[in-house]
Amino acid sequence: QYTLRDVLEARYGTEEADRIFYEAGFLAGKNFCERFVGRRESFNDFVEGVQRALLDLKIGLLRMESEDRENARFTLTMAEDLDCSGLPDMGHAVCTYDEGFIAGMFKVFAGRDFDVKEIDCWSTGDRTCRFEVKPKSAS
Ligand SMILES: [Zn+2]
Repeated sequence: QYTLRDVLEARYGTEEADRIFYEAGFLAGKNFCERFVGRRESFNDFVEGVQRALLDLKIGLLRMESEDRENARFTLTMAEDLDCSGLPDMGHAVCTYDEGFIAGMFKVFAGRDFDVKEIDCWSTGDRTCRFEVKPKSAS
């Protein structure tokens, strides 16, 4: 993945490369959710299904850290994932693909668009990746 990123960045610039990773992650998250989680009635059920499928497929450990359901804002962490676990501190978060992946899963469950931003990462010196999820239109 990192050599793919190098080539995309060299050809299209960092911003466009990020968009490509986000969109590819989004597609993967959407397909993953449709195939391995399926339709869920409640949010708890959805989160449980996602955690179980991520674990079964050895993709990573997802934890819901905080949730504000009224405003549809969530903070979740992803540990032991393949994206960046073990990477050195590079001063910026690198899990753009995961951001898109999470946005894709939320889209399947909620039927609306969310913005997902990684705020902590192995590559910013943390030991887990932490993501903020909020409705797309909100700031
Ligand atoms: Zn990360």
